[in-house]
Amino acid sequence: MIVAIDGPAGAGKSTVARALAVRLGFRYLDTGAMYRALTWLAMQRSFDLGDAHALAQLARENPVLFPEDDRVWIGGTDVTSSIREARVDRMVPVVARHSAVREVMRDRQRQLGKEGNVVIEGRDIGTVVAPDAAVKVYLVADREERAKRRMAERPGIGADALATDLRLRDESDAARMQPAEDAIEIDTTSLEVDVVVDRIAALVHERTAA
Ligand code: C5P
Repeated sequence: MIVAIDGPAGAGKSTVARALAVRLGFRYLDTGAMYRALTWLAMQRSFDLGDAHALAQLARENPVLFPEDDRVWIGGTDVTSSIREARVDRMVPVVARHSAVREVMRDRQRQLGKEGNVVIEGRDIGTVVAPDAAVKVYLVADREERAKRRMAERPGIGADALATDLRLRDESDAARMQPAEDAIEIDTTSLEVDVVVDRIAALVHERTAA
């Protein structure tokens, strides 16, 4: 069974998807980490981030690996913490908007999500990567709350710079951020993580019982 968790940056996807996977005993797949890893590698190797063909080739030759829980590897390097740097935050949408890149990434995501039960988080999981997912959730939250959450994760960056980064990323991600028509929207602005996880777990159990 696939549980798709989509939504914008700071809506709570990673926290909720991770906790949900633990609760259900499902695997967890973070597709944002895959676009981040490719962006990190392209920057590391000074690629032109406008060159869709070269980036797609780079992605094909360097599949993102998740060798153990929460560790992300690409091109022989553990990039788990480097992919969370602000410079990567800023450049990911530039890389992710190329359809040639997305095709390679989506193939790999489908491959990684193929076996067993998995919670997959991203932007286009319920719409494109796994349109047949058993449960689709679209998380949203007020922009102010999302900026506050990002600030807790990115100490050392000013509030204004973070708010600007978030706005710019929202704008360039917008084309890929449409909820699936059959996704259940949950506004996490004033909800505790456990409450959101309870709700989604209940949806999963409903589907399993049906
Ligand atoms: O979820 P996260 O903030 O880590 O995603 C980083 C970026 O990767 C997003 O801003 C978006 O540009 C891209 N992304 C995407 N499609 C996905 C997941 C992430 O385009 N399924």
